[in-house]
Amino acid sequence: MAQGDKSKCFRNFSAGPGALPRAVLEEAQQAVSELPGTGVSILGLSHRSRLFRNMLDETEERMRRLVGLPRDYQVLFLQGGGTLQFSMVPMAMLPAGAVADYVVGGYWTRKAADAARHHGNVRVAWDGGDCGFRRLPKADEVLGKADAAYLHYASNETVEGLQFRSVPRASVPMVCDASSDFLSAPLDVRELSLVYAHAQKNIGPAGVTVVLVRDEVLAQRPSGIPPVLDYRAHAEARSLLHTPPVFSIYVVLLSLRWLEAAVGGLAAMGRINTKKADVVRSALRNFTHFYKHDVEAGFESIMNVTFRCPTPKLDALFVARADQAGLLGTEGHRSRGGLRISLYNGVTLDDAHAAAAFLEEFAHEHRSARIVRSAEFVTST
Ligand code: PMP
Repeated sequence: MAQGDKSKCFRNFSAGPGALPRAVLEEAQQAVSELPGTGVSILGLSHRSRLFRNMLDETEERMRRLVGLPRDYQVLFLQGGGTLQFSMVPMAMLPAGAVADYVVGGYWTRKAADAARHHGNVRVAWDGGDCGFRRLPKADEVLGKADAAYLHYASNETVEGLQFRSVPRASVPMVCDASSDFLSAPLDVRELSLVYAHAQKNIGPAGVTVVLVRDEVLAQRPSGIPPVLDYRAHAEARSLLHTPPVFSIYVVLLSLRWLEAAVGGLAAMGRINTKKADVVRSALRNFTHFYKHDVEAGFESIMNVTFRCPTPKLDALFVARADQAGLLGTEGHRSRGGLRISLYNGVTLDDAHAAAAFLEEFAHEHRSARIVRSAEFVTST
């Protein structure tokens, strides 16, 4: 990555932790020195203070309002990232002898299914590996079998750049890993028994994971789960079972205030995010002979735009040139290679236009380079 040059404009397209809105960063920066009017830094604020309790309550209330969360769901602020949820979910929802269905749509859901196998029986309800992770199940496919304890899927596959357009159809309780598109657009939570999302893509720094869970799940979970891994213990302690990530939760609160006041809610955020993805994709479409993308139409993520140049060498050059131009974090996931431009809530439409302009410039430059100096690329690969 390019190093800090104060006069240069940097734009962050990292897949996570990702860009946060400038206004949120500025308020967070101020709070590290002093939370306005309190004399205390957010980094030294006791989680048992009235001030923090109020922050936690406001964060929960805003989350409920934004999502339109029914009262029979709890909002939990946990630690351990998306990865700990891969185990907490089966511990709570997969009793001995039962089976859980997993939609393996990509890298992260494969990990989720693998982790769940440590806790019980797992069945792959749909395997994206069969089509090279180029698409997800179609909207009219009913997923999972009626005897499953639950169906687990990810609404957005961060690595492959695949996204469900709506909550899939299943005849059993559904669990959604929304880590990479949570609060990027409206979410139909009523269809889901549990939703989890780490904060570090759209709503905050790493350190806090949000769980929205239906009371029914808490009531039915098996006994004997260690409290720190038990949703019910966290719900009863109102997310203060042990010291929570105070700073991360505060930044989530700032993001929620920003989403409501500056953006106008999730529907407005969804429109902006769709527009950003359109801007970047239309640049890719203008150069289909140069940029390849593996995702089938109708399954493209509005959060993570994945694509490739004609050769891995050009991919590497793209990342280096983008870094020089101040466009950071464009490399693809280490498991897959290629390129990825992530367009989380904190990325602006102006950033998306800058990415599109760079895509066009790079394709132009290297289209002629390949023709005029093709030997250089041929001999050096
Ligand atoms: N689920 C998804 C969809 C992800 O993108 C990631 C990480 N980027 C994870 C789970 C794992 O999250 P964590 O690194 O917070 O454990």
